[in-house]
Amino acid sequence: MADRTLIAGARVFDGSGADPFAADVLIEGERITALGRDVTPTLAEGAEVIDGSGATLLPGLIDGHAHLGFGSTVEYASDRSESEDERALLIAHSGRVLLDSGFTSAYSGGNRLPRAEVAARAAFARGWLPGPRLRAASWEGSAGLVEPGVYAFPGTDGRASDPDSVSRFVDDMADVGVDIVKFTLTGESAVVAGTSRVVQFTDEEVAAASAAAEKRGVWLTAHAHSADAITMAVRHGFRAVYHCTFPDDEALELLTQARDRIFVAPTPGIIYAHLIDPAFPPADIGEMRDALASVKAVVPELKARGIRLVPGGDYGFAFNPVGKNARDLQLFVDWFGFTPAEALRSATSVGGELMGMGGELGQIKPGYLADLLLVDGDPLADIAVLQDRERLAAIIKGGRPHKLADGRRGRPVAAAGSVAPVVPAGRVAPADRVPPAAP
Ligand SMILES: [Zn+2]
Repeated sequence: MADRTLIAGARVFDGSGADPFAADVLIEGERITALGRDVTPTLAEGAEVIDGSGATLLPGLIDGHAHLGFGSTVEYASDRSESEDERALLIAHSGRVLLDSGFTSAYSGGNRLPRAEVAARAAFARGWLPGPRLRAASWEGSAGLVEPGVYAFPGTDGRASDPDSVSRFVDDMADVGVDIVKFTLTGESAVVAGTSRVVQFTDEEVAAASAAAEKRGVWLTAHAHSADAITMAVRHGFRAVYHCTFPDDEALELLTQARDRIFVAPTPGIIYAHLIDPAFPPADIGEMRDALASVKAVVPELKARGIRLVPGGDYGFAFNPVGKNARDLQLFVDWFGFTPAEALRSATSVGGELMGMGGELGQIKPGYLADLLLVDGDPLADIAVLQDRERLAAIIKGGRPHKLADGRRGRPVAAAGSVAPVVPAGRVAPADRVPPAAP
């Protein structure tokens, strides 16, 4: 592709929450430089054209709770027996599948090979391998209720509080180069029955984690089902709270006060995979049903309070594989009462803020990174179209097409001043497609 690309004639959903509008979008290098009336023939001259007619152009989707390191995708089901080297390669594989699914950014929810995830982050960024922009995460810091753990937090039952080992974990992970350190503040009843509301860490330990994270400049994410754990995460400055299943009034109030610095990923996808699609029943089905009933009430309440919610459904397990991630957007609509536009805003501009790149990621505006998704059809009318890879006509990251359907490839824009500046191959451009420059 040329250094300049013009996406012509699409209906644009810019990610801000504004209504969609018809506009051409000009990309130069890795960024969007102009759209609509600002795309003059002079600016567009020589650009490669992508025909956007009949399609909707969105910012690339952003997953707020991704597990590239868990090894399973819609193309490969891991039985968890792979060697460490194979598992490292599966991170790259998962990144490619996620990008194929229209997600151009991912905020990691933890993995089993943090060093490999950091390497994947670099490989995706440099373009050695196809994959999303990635915020890389640590091992899941767990006291044995979720992961056996390389880090020997000694377990919850009557153990002595050990803040030193917790801050050492944060330090070690920062040394590896992760962006995020993950703590499973509660257990997980889907894995070990009866543990979702058990808090695994003492307040003193979480304070130590917070101090270490502050010192090292890494973000903290909490896996937190119970009110106590949610409260602990907010009080100690965590950036993201996953699940957020059973908050009480105090937790809701604290989340509201912290809404300018915190994000919540309610993670409906994994509940769906456990309960609605019964390929893998959870260890504790009663608790999972309670969780479903609770999040259906809690998430609309969080939304009403202005708390930033992001999709990301714990995809990466064989029963809930990477590649199904767009299902979370549909669940935001079906379960939580979001409009499709609100779900898309969560997955784009709010996601950009989660990535720490608000102001340059997650919207279609001049100056923003050209991470874009051209969808055949109208996801604002039917959010489910995003789950059909065939409908993703173009997937662009940093101005470069990762995917471009043959029928969408146009020819270069003719020199300024000549007739019909934008004529995608085989199609007729409306006369007003690119208005002339003001005299
Ligand atoms: Zn997770």
